[in-house]
Amino acid sequence: MDELMLDGNAIAGLLQEVFAVDMTTAIETCGGCGASELLGAAHVFRGAGIVLRCPHCGNTLATIVKSDGGTWIALGGVRTLRLSG
Ligand SMILES: [Zn+2]
Repeated sequence: MDELMLDGNAIAGLLQEVFAVDMTTAIETCGGCGASELLGAAHVFRGAGIVLRCPHCGNTLATIVKSDGGTWIALGGVRTLRLSG
């Protein structure tokens, strides 16, 4: 193993800090059109899971599926996500 490489456990505190915030105030930049917007302004569609779409171009920003085995999150349509603070 490269001496500069650690595993994800080494940033457990950072991960907890990053993902334990109000995500509706996070600013996402759409990977489709490049618009930046509050994540809370995304258009939400509910079905077998949740789909968040860009309010400007309709690009799928994220999908969230909850099951007995856990929560699956895909952020494939988000270019960047800026958390406040
Ligand atoms: Zn867009």
